[in-house]
Amino acid sequence: MKTERLAPDDAGLARAAELLGKGTCVAFPTETVYGLGADARHDDAVAGIYAAKGRPAHNPLIVHLPDLAAAADLAELPDAARVLAAAFWPGPLTLVLPLKRGAGLSRLVTAGLDSVALRVPAAPVARRLLARSGLPLAAPSANPSGRISPTTADHVLAGLAGRIAAVVDGGPCAVGLESTILDLTGSPRLLRPGGIPAEALARVLDMPLDLRRVTDDTAPAAPGLMASHYAPRARVRLNAETPGTDEVLLGFGPVQGAALNLSETGDLAEAAAGLFAALHRLDTGGATAIAVSPIPDTGLGRAINDRLRRAAAPRPDGP
Ligand code: AMP
Ligand code: MG
Repeated sequence: MKTERLAPDDAGLARAAELLGKGTCVAFPTETVYGLGADARHDDAVAGIYAAKGRPAHNPLIVHLPDLAAAADLAELPDAARVLAAAFWPGPLTLVLPLKRGAGLSRLVTAGLDSVALRVPAAPVARRLLARSGLPLAAPSANPSGRISPTTADHVLAGLAGRIAAVVDGGPCAVGLESTILDLTGSPRLLRPGGIPAEALARVLDMPLDLRRVTDDTAPAAPGLMASHYAPRARVRLNAETPGTDEVLLGFGPVQGAALNLSETGDLAEAAAGLFAALHRLDTGGATAIAVSPIPDTGLGRAINDRLRRAAAPRPDGP
């Protein structure tokens, strides 16, 4: 299959909507990363996402929607969900909610769970595609499973060209990190740090939130949050003050000798936006080992460190 690169204009979005309507997979930009979208109501369409990514089937998908009303059709919305949606939707917050009976979603989307992960994205191209297609779009990141997430159409094509019908090229993603995932099926529980700092969620909910991210070992309720993920081919070492002889330095703040710097001024939003692009660049540049400067573990820094820890984790398939 030849993967079409579509412009984010009327003609491009009409073509993307047509392909999605036929049940094929189309990658599109959101404010977090590029998603690989398919009609969340149809098994064959959703199966195409798992096949293209090589994603394990026990790992459920986030459903992207135009607004809160669409979310209310699919899931029960506790008060906390309405409060958070009012504050952060559209935006990089995913809520895990009790699935409504008869919601009509493919069971592959929820991996058979009785909950569903929903998000209303903010990026204009994503919003226009949702409106144009009229479909709830299941969309994980548009990369081969376990690899670095894509923040440009070129990243998507580097990983999935020939395996998906099309990519809508909307330029680089503004946030650059995946959404924060909050489980609201019981008392609020952080499943993944991301584009909305957990501190901001706690403030809006007016309650303390446990900021220790839940991992696979402790939470079968959040399948797919594997230790090794976001992995470049190169080895990754964190909290490095100086690089070793075989390492290139990925800097943060005013450090000397960095091959790339995530933010010379120490700005966490700038670092988040450029993190995956930097890992892609070092990887394609042939680095065999990457040392990363220390990054403060507050606000967006928690999500950055989470991704870096998993990029550095031992690989099931590698050294
Ligand atoms: P992504 O890989 O960015 O598409 O993120 C999807 C992640 O959301 C999955 O790996 C799960 O950890 C989480 N998730 C999705 N649906 C559910 C659900 N129903 N319950 C708990 N976690 C979920
Ligand atoms: Mg992903």
